[in-house]
Amino acid sequence: MDAKLIVDEVRLTPILISDPPLLNVQGVHQPSTPRLVVEVITRGGVSGLGETYGDGVYLDLARPLAEALPGHPVTDVNALFTLATATDPTPATGATSATAPALGAEEPDAGVSAAGLRGVRTAEKLRLSVVSAFETACLDALGKTLGLPVHALLGGKVRDTVEYSAYLFYRWAAHPGAEAADDWGPALDPAGIVAQARRFDRLHGFRSFKLKGGVFEPEREIAAIRALAEAFPGRPLRLDPNGAWSVETSLAVARELDGVLEYLEDPASGTGAMAEIAARTDVPLATNMCVTTFEEVPEAFAKGAVRIVLCDHHYWGGLGRTRELAALCRTYGVGLSMHSNTHLGISLAAMTQVAATLPELHHACDTHYPWQTEDVVTTRPVFRDGRLAVSDAPGLGVDLDRPALASLHRRWLDDDGTLRDRDDAAAMRRADPAWRPSTW
Ligand SMILES: [Mg+2]
Repeated sequence: MDAKLIVDEVRLTPILISDPPLLNVQGVHQPSTPRLVVEVITRGGVSGLGETYGDGVYLDLARPLAEALPGHPVTDVNALFTLATATDPTPATGATSATAPALGAEEPDAGVSAAGLRGVRTAEKLRLSVVSAFETACLDALGKTLGLPVHALLGGKVRDTVEYSAYLFYRWAAHPGAEAADDWGPALDPAGIVAQARRFDRLHGFRSFKLKGGVFEPEREIAAIRALAEAFPGRPLRLDPNGAWSVETSLAVARELDGVLEYLEDPASGTGAMAEIAARTDVPLATNMCVTTFEEVPEAFAKGAVRIVLCDHHYWGGLGRTRELAALCRTYGVGLSMHSNTHLGISLAAMTQVAATLPELHHACDTHYPWQTEDVVTTRPVFRDGRLAVSDAPGLGVDLDRPALASLHRRWLDDDGTLRDRDDAAAMRRADPAWRPSTW
């Protein structure tokens, strides 16, 4: 193995990034949310970048993996999974561990993790989310060393641009107690959501719109979708209440919005409920909650619970595993879209690179990125007609803004611990101590 490709050092930098007061079934986004930047530096002096969740449970897994990786070549991305398992400080494999608590079954928000809204938290899911950032960083370093874009390392791009969807949120004008607000204003009714969509359309040219639901009673969210359909005739529309509804409520909403929605995303929680709904409606169901691991695929596909799976390279363990999921979806005739959580430019570059290699991706990808005002990359990507150009520069095609990284890390260091673990419910209860998640 060429010595230039051997990992010399791994740097982990937890950061806190500003986040607007976006509402969801779990509460409200915190004023700052944690992310982790992974840098893999080779003996050839090349730095590869990765980004993932930055909560403490992820840091606990990333630190021993970072210590174990030097000496391995950046080409050995398949070995990251065994290395991550071997270095996992928690004892059980695949089971919920002491550092990866499932949300309590008695809680109304059981089954939904605030950091990912991806079903019950397991040690395996946490590990894969950590591996994803290391895999991305290794591929970035390999690509930079070879002078090849990451998409070339994945077999090559099948498109030159990747389409993204506008991600609409009910939101407050400002975080409670904040000294300053951004200039988006509140969006708490159909008119507010349409105004937000118009601004996304004007700024970035997005063609499709997704509304994060599960915030208000379903009738109010149906009205918002109808208002969007009226304002943007023929545009793809999605609604995602993150499993907040019963089977009967989901079916009632599906009846109301049949022919209006491109897809209905996770109306109810769990494969069983989703299968029951799917059997009784023609509205396509999509998920990033009941199919988030390979173990969950067979039952969901056998039951016909979903027509579209939202891939997410953080969840699935990296860009290679995302392509494996795409192959499974192709095999079973299930559609593919892409999920997003609060993220920065490193993740967006990784999402774009892998999306460019997936012929079966026929839906615009989700991204929270336009809501982010801060970044750790030197150049913010620009959406044109809702699309990002696929970079052909070596690696991911992004460079680290070290002063920005240091500043956001300083914010993480200065935090008293309140914001280092994302908890949307806790953020909501700071505004309204009596708040409880609602289900309909
Ligand atoms: Mg979703």
